[in-house]
Amino acid sequence: MTTPTSVPGPLGFATRAVHVGQEPDPRTGDVVPPIHVTSTHAQDAVDRLRGGYEYGRGPNPTRDAFTRALASLEGGAAAFAFPSGLNAEDTLVRALTRPGDHISFGSDVYGGTYRLFRTVWEKEGLTATPLDLADPEAVARDVAEHGSRLVWVETPSNPRLEVFDLRALAEAAHAGGALLVADNTFASPYLQRPLEFGADVVVHSTTKYIGGHSDLVGGAVIVRDGLRVPVGLAAGPWRDSGLVADELSFLQSAVGAVESPRDAYLAHRGLKTLAVRMERHSATALALARHLVDHPEVRAVHYPGLESDPGHDLAARQMRAFGGVVSFELASAGLARHVAESTRVFSLAVSLGATESLIEYPPVMTHAETVGGRWAVPEGLLRVSVGLEDPGDLIADLDRALASSASYR
Ligand SMILES: *Cc1c(COP(=O)(O)O)cnc(C)c1O
Repeated sequence: MTTPTSVPGPLGFATRAVHVGQEPDPRTGDVVPPIHVTSTHAQDAVDRLRGGYEYGRGPNPTRDAFTRALASLEGGAAAFAFPSGLNAEDTLVRALTRPGDHISFGSDVYGGTYRLFRTVWEKEGLTATPLDLADPEAVARDVAEHGSRLVWVETPSNPRLEVFDLRALAEAAHAGGALLVADNTFASPYLQRPLEFGADVVVHSTTKYIGGHSDLVGGAVIVRDGLRVPVGLAAGPWRDSGLVADELSFLQSAVGAVESPRDAYLAHRGLKTLAVRMERHSATALALARHLVDHPEVRAVHYPGLESDPGHDLAARQMRAFGGVVSFELASAGLARHVAESTRVFSLAVSLGATESLIEYPPVMTHAETVGGRWAVPEGLLRVSVGLEDPGDLIADLDRALASSASYR
């Protein structure tokens, strides 16, 4: 049978998003393969598995279909799907570090990642320094000084939407023997593929743009072709290829860090519309950001799609468009809280990347861990995730909330 993915020659992103891992079922012709909910697989002999499938904590056909598609879209050798983004990060760090190691990370990272670094992993003997990743030389110095195992970047960053130079950071990491891990959640593989700029590993919260509909929690790790476990982190005899992909696949089933088949199915379904969704998220976010720049109540707008944004030129080189998240600053914490509680189309909620627009107040809702520290987020900051509604309704909703804040003051 000829399927689009067996056609020779390179296929475009959207074609692969729709077809990789979705070959029609050979028996029934289903164009959407069934969800394999089974926890165990009948074996042909005591030492012979059918198709390599044994038990649900190991490989599962539905999860495999999703990760095949995701690896193709990120341009990686292999992908792995986890029950959450943070579980993906935790399993990756288990695979690539040992007690006493050091991680250099971006100061402006997802609050939950910051919490993993500063509370969970430090207890395991790992140390981590937050750094300004806009200065790759400072990153190279930190890597050299601590012998860092990993450099960890989020670009665009959360919640300030700063853009960092993936190629320069990959060089800084590699010069000191470290690997570059890029959290690509905000961009999605449609807008940016960090492996093409020299990153070694990509992580995702598939809860966000990849799932795209606020109806699942999941995470993923994608590794570049040929990535080997660093010297000094000896792999067991059962993983003698020395490949990070084999280590991750071992660890995933050894610790039980596997995404359920139903959630893997939903995440895969999300991939099929990723390209069109990201185009629309990006176009509406740009319109909204341009509108906010001219608003008298707004002190600053952070969005790399704005020509005036410090990250614009770099983002234009690294990204296909600028994504659906915008943050902006008001004069005070009180005003920001009032606006967050006054919108009607934007729901007051954490998370991002879905069909419906969301607004949140980072200093309390997502970045409380940073408050009071050197890397605290501004107290008047709001973050919006621009959904797929009519752009005019979203702009009018924020205008209404901002107008009511003027009387509040
Ligand atoms: C949400 C998020 C995470 C964590 O993912 P979960 O699926 O919530 O565990 C990590 N990184 C970024 C950038 C995120 O937005």
